Amino acid sequence: MNDPVLSYRPKRSDRLIQCVAASGMIRVVLIDGTNLVKEARRVHGLSRVATAALGRQLMMTAIMAADLKGCDDLISTVIKGDGPAGTMICTGNSRVEVKGSVLNGDVELPPTPEGKLDVGGFVGHNGKLSVIRDMGLKEPYTGLCNLVSGEIAIDFANYYAASLQRPALVYLGVREDAKNGNVRAAAGIFAEPLPGCPDEEIDRLQSLSEPIAGLSERMDAGETLDSFLMRVFEPLKIEKVGECEPKYVCDCTRQRVERALISLGRAEMNDMIEQDHGAEVSCRFCDRIYHFTQEELERLLESATTKKDETK
Ligand SMILES: [Zn+2]
Repeated sequence: MNDPVLSYRPKRSDRLIQCVAASGMIRVVLIDGTNLVKEARRVHGLSRVATAALGRQLMMTAIMAADLKGCDDLISTVIKGDGPAGTMICTGNSRVEVKGSVLNGDVELPPTPEGKLDVGGFVGHNGKLSVIRDMGLKEPYTGLCNLVSGEIAIDFANYYAASLQRPALVYLGVREDAKNGNVRAAAGIFAEPLPGCPDEEIDRLQSLSEPIAGLSERMDAGETLDSFLMRVFEPLKIEKVGECEPKYVCDCTRQRVERALISLGRAEMNDMIEQDHGAEVSCRFCDRIYHFTQEELERLLESATTKKDETK
């Protein structure tokens, strides 16, 4: 007999918890991004492997966004691997609103011999990871490193070690239903020792990597982020210092799409006017479609040209 009550799972809000451990010498961030990853899958109609890949990147971007100081600061992470995924981009703001896109999100791959989703094969084992911090200055700060596996968590850990000279522990996990691909749990942990952290505390942190790797499985089994935090990090004397709800939000507007159209240049806009007699532009982060008629494109091109003349 199929008892529907048995499959009932209460809906939990996503959470991002910021903590300090080892008397302030280690910074720890935990995220329950289950709804976030579900929303990315729904918006883009992602395959299973693409859900896991973009889900991991979105959660890491949320963790990095939670560390932004200025309210208008933005962080973007870009993964360009040699796998079928194509470019993957995620952006987050200081309110921990994130959005993401993957070029070929409908590509599915067979599981690995161990029966896992082949995220590394999807992203590619070679390529680049870049992190762009836009803090409202003239030039955004960009950090760049090579991918080491395409599994994403290890690539971000390598980014901290290689590009920022900071040894960090990164875990990102997305669990999906084997039958229908629904996201059952998505969670992540980032931990970094701060300068001057004693070696024995770093060793203690390293010794937690095994239980940490079980986070999404534990959450799938019903454990809360708080209980996991207190249970696993107890030896490091962890304390919560902040909490927020990460969300999947796309802030695209018609005005922004107009600016993007203008930035394509006169030749490309003329093609749209003369050959296509209009344009349909879809936002890469939310797949919303913006329609432009021939007349609207002509007006846009005209106003862009006048503005340029005025600044001469
Ligand atoms: Zn959008």
